Amino acid sequence: MFCPKCRAEYREGFVECSDCQIPLVDQIPQEKEGDPDLELVTVLETRDPGILTIAKSLLAEAEIEFMDTAEGLQDFYGVGGLGGFQPLTGPARLQVSVRDEERAKSALQRLENS
Ligand SMILES: [Zn+2]
Repeated sequence: MFCPKCRAEYREGFVECSDCQIPLVDQIPQEKEGDPDLELVTVLETRDPGILTIAKSLLAEAEIEFMDTAEGLQDFYGVGGLGGFQPLTGPARLQVSVRDEERAKSALQRLENS
């Protein structure tokens, strides 16, 4: 059980948040669309799978959640094995939440310096 307001988690049997005095819900409601926290910004755009791999590990190391917009295509080419010639793929983009943008950029600076 969760408080929809403060998002505190309660054990089964509790019906009201002791802080907010409102009824608990089974699940925290989904974030509204357009929530600025969920807005994604592109922090890296590359056609080099090596750079992409390093960038992902830098973000993972910094504990930043990211989206890879070319993931599906990479899976496709991984299976097909087109020998590195990928005429249909655009650059892969790594996107992070706007709230992680600065951290992600500083994490990725290590990429440019190496
Ligand atoms: Zn509460």
